[in-house]
Amino acid sequence: MATTPTRHDPDVLVIGAGVVGLFCAWFLREAGHTVTVVDRHEVGDPAACSAGNTGFVGTQGSAPLAEPGVPARGLRWLLNPESPFHVTPRLDGELLSWLWHFRRHCTERHARAGFEVLLALKQRSLAVLREVCAEGELAGTLTARGMVLACHTPEGYAAARRTVDTAVAHGVPLRELGLDELARLEPGVEFDLAGALLNEEGAALRVPAFLVGLADALRQRGVEVLGGVDVRDFEVVDRQLRAVRTGGGELRPAEVVIAAGVWSTGLARALGVGLPLQPAKGYTVTVPAGPGSPTLPMLLSEGKVAVLPMGDQIRIGGTLELSGLDASVSARRVDGILRTARTYLPGLDTDRRLDVWTGLRPCTPDSLPLIGRLGAYRNVSVATGHGHIGMGLAPAGGRLLAQLVTGKDPDMPLETFAPDRFRVGL
Ligand SMILES: Cc1cc2nc3c(=O)[nH]c(=O)nc-3n(C[C@H](O)[C@H](O)[C@H](O)COP(=O)(O)OP(=O)(O)OC[C@H]3O[C@@H](n4cnc5c(N)ncnc54)[C@H](O)[C@@H]3O)c2cc1C
Repeated sequence: MATTPTRHDPDVLVIGAGVVGLFCAWFLREAGHTVTVVDRHEVGDPAACSAGNTGFVGTQGSAPLAEPGVPARGLRWLLNPESPFHVTPRLDGELLSWLWHFRRHCTERHARAGFEVLLALKQRSLAVLREVCAEGELAGTLTARGMVLACHTPEGYAAARRTVDTAVAHGVPLRELGLDELARLEPGVEFDLAGALLNEEGAALRVPAFLVGLADALRQRGVEVLGGVDVRDFEVVDRQLRAVRTGGGELRPAEVVIAAGVWSTGLARALGVGLPLQPAKGYTVTVPAGPGSPTLPMLLSEGKVAVLPMGDQIRIGGTLELSGLDASVSARRVDGILRTARTYLPGLDTDRRLDVWTGLRPCTPDSLPLIGRLGAYRNVSVATGHGHIGMGLAPAGGRLLAQLVTGKDPDMPLETFAPDRFRVGL
C-alpha cells in the first residue's frame, strides 16, 4: 500500500530503511537535522538484506573478500554448485569491470589495508551498538558472549592460527581455544574439528527485531520513518536535486542520502552516475535448536558458514553468489550450506526448516563501503556497499555520512570510501 510521504519537507531524506539508512538517520538526527527515512517496504521486511542475516557484529570477520589465493580457489569453486562462492556467467560490462577490480585487490597489500579500515569501522561500530542497545527495547537484540572460529581441517586451523598475532596487534581479543575448553563451554554438543579460536569481542544482532526496534527509537527521537514509499524518479536542475518523486507524492528535501542497498545502483543511474556495486546473494536457513546445537555464535571457517543461536532456534547462513538482482532460492545451495554445518556439528538436526531466506549483499570490489557525494551533485550522497559485513559496519558508516552532510571533520578519511575511487585507479 502506498503511504503519503511527509507533511513537511525534511532537511535530509534518506532512501532505504535497512541497517545502513537507519544508522545514517540516527547520526543525522543527532547532528540536529530533521530527517525522513522512506522505504518501499515496511521496516524489517524480508526483502531487505538487513532483515534475515546472521547478524554477526563485533571484531571477528574484518577481512575483505578479495584476498591472495581467492582467484585460484574461486576457479575451483566455480565448478562446484554447492561451493561457498559462485558467479553466474553472463556478458555484463558492469560485472566484468567489478571482477577486474576485485581481482586487482587480491594482493597482500590490499588485503592488509582493507582489513585495517574494516576493523577500525567494526571497532567503532561495536562501541555504538553497545550504547544503542544498552537499554530499552533494543537491549535484548544484541548478544555479546564471544564468537568461535571453528576449523574442520588441520590446514584450515593452521591458516586461522596465523591470523592471531595480527588480530591481537590490532587490539582484537582473539586466542586459541582448546577443544577441551570448547567442550566445557558447549557441553553435550558434538564437534568434528581440528581446532578452534575464540574472539571474546564477538557479538551478534538479532534481526529483524533489531531493525524494528531501531526504527522505533528513531521515531521517538523525532525522525519520520515511512514504509510503503517507493522512490521512482528525481527532478534535477543544474546538478542540484530539486525533488524526489515517489509512488505517494513528491518530496523536496534540502539533502538526499541514497542508502538503498543493492538497489542504490538503479537510483544513482537515474541521476546519471554509475556505482561499483554488485549484488551478492546469500542464504540463511532457520531450524529449531536441539541437543546438537551450540549456544555460542560460530563461524565455520573453511566452509564460510555462520551459525547463530537464537534461543529455541538456530540460524545458519552462507554462500556468496554474483547472480544479479535475483533473490530466488536454489535447493541445492541450501542443502550445501546445511551439509557444511553438519560436517562441523554432526549432531545438528537440520531436517525441520522453519525459514529459508535469501538476501542481496551490496558488494564493492574492495569490500569497503561507498560513502560520499554522488558525482557532481551538491546535495546528494550515497551510503551503500557494506557488503558481507554491513551489520557490523553500518553504525560507524552512518556517523561518517552524517559528518559529511553536516560538514564536520570525519572520524576517518573520507577519500577511502569515495564512491568514484575505482575510476581513479586506487
Ligand atoms: C546470508 C547473509 C548473511 C549475512 N550475515 C551478516 C552478518 O552476520 N554480519 C554482517 O555484518 N552482515 C551480514 N550480512 C550483510 C548485511 O546483511 C548487509 O551488508 C546489510 O544488510 C546491507 O544493508 P543495507 O541497508 O545497505 O541494505 P538493505 O538492508 O537491503 O536495505 C536497503 C533498503 O532500501 C529499500 N529500497 C530500495 N530501493 C528503494 C526505492 N526505490 N524506494 C524506497 N526504498 C527502496 C529496500 O526496500 C531496502 O529495505 C549478511 C548478508 C547475507 C545475505
